[in-house]
Amino acid sequence: MRQTKLFTKARREAPADEVAKNAQLLIRAGYIHKEMAGVYSYLPLGKRVLEKIERVVREEMDAIGGQEIRMATLHPSEPWKQTGAWDSVDVVFKITSRTEREYTIGQSEEEIVTPIAREYVTSYRDLPLAVYQIGQKYRDELRAKSGIMRGREFTMKDMYSFHETQEDFDRFYAAAKEAYLKVYERVGLVAKATEASGGAFTKKLSYEFMVLTDAGEDDILYCNHCSYCVNAEISTQKEGDACTRCNAGTLSLAKASEVGNIFDLGTKYATDFSFTYKDREGKEQYPIIGCFGIGITRLMGVLVEAHSDEKGIVWPKTVAPFAVHLVSLGKPGDQVAAAADALYDDLAKAGVEVLYDDRDLSTGQKFAESDLLGIPLRIVVGREAAETGAFEVVERATGIVTKKDRAALLAA
Ligand code: ATP
Ligand code: MG
Repeated sequence: MRQTKLFTKARREAPADEVAKNAQLLIRAGYIHKEMAGVYSYLPLGKRVLEKIERVVREEMDAIGGQEIRMATLHPSEPWKQTGAWDSVDVVFKITSRTEREYTIGQSEEEIVTPIAREYVTSYRDLPLAVYQIGQKYRDELRAKSGIMRGREFTMKDMYSFHETQEDFDRFYAAAKEAYLKVYERVGLVAKATEASGGAFTKKLSYEFMVLTDAGEDDILYCNHCSYCVNAEISTQKEGDACTRCNAGTLSLAKASEVGNIFDLGTKYATDFSFTYKDREGKEQYPIIGCFGIGITRLMGVLVEAHSDEKGIVWPKTVAPFAVHLVSLGKPGDQVAAAADALYDDLAKAGVEVLYDDRDLSTGQKFAESDLLGIPLRIVVGREAAETGAFEVVERATGIVTKKDRAALLAA
């Protein structure tokens, strides 16, 4: 894409009321636009990053048998009253229409997915089932000061699974845990599977997936020797205690952000909606339901917190909006601009995702903006490159500069 056609531009300042680093950088670079605290629009660059993250999540959910759907976000109030969430869940937005009907907008979708599954699951032969969606969620959060890491509107991948037996649930739960760890690794983060409270409906533990970051709102205790990690909220242990899991390490306390969560909901929702199926003996049984969330927009925020420096964002390759930032130092119509144009066409033809800075701006301005945008590779076309055919390639993460000719660039 040519930057002369991209409608967003980098700006020097983020809004004065924006305190989170992730949102400050994303706003300055033109990835997102702030509507109000906790609500952001995603502009072309930001939309591309979200799509990259979503693609990874989709691939891993499909790989464990998830079927993608798209559920409604405007919900009738009745199922929410049926499960008690209308009154007990504090973040539920409540809307009254002009005809005095009550609605909510989805903050999670158990109330919608359970009646859907009930329509189709009548026999043990219909189980197990896992469905998921990637969509907007709305929560009446009191504090929304963490940029896109805590939105009042945000994007979540939510999956729900339905099982005959606890063993089958446990099998799927283990597969989902592995799939989650793969998602985080693929997008360039290290997440710890963290023991956490199972919520209101179960005494069991759940897993939260935590990324260490000072911008996080959770406190975790983790072992410096094994993979043990627990949310400090549910632990009686403290920093410096010996790890009782491996008996070899000690526990450290750290700030972290929850980028996912997997839950055993038991038969609570099946019971609330009288959802039974015929088991192998012909008896009616309630299925065991699990729910599995990943905060897509929070993940993007955590990525910026984890991968940025004093100059701007440093995207990992898998989620970067473009693979290459081609920066022309030419003036419209000159030999340098012509060389940059030709390289842009070749790269685009070869299927490389290129953002091409073909604007008539100063070199300093272009480089500063390029650093802020954080695209992994920058190819610079200056006078020397136009004459010799050796282009300067700068790696955003390391600053390492190499020279490559057209053939090498197209082959890479
Ligand atoms: P938190 O404890 O951070 O409030 P939660 O436990 O309420 O999150 P879940 O209901 O389990 O979150 O939602 C699944 C995932 O959605 C979370 O793991 C998180 O990554 C993401 N998420 C939750 N709330 C928000 C929010 N307000 N803004 C952005 N992402 C969120
Ligand atoms: Mg939580």
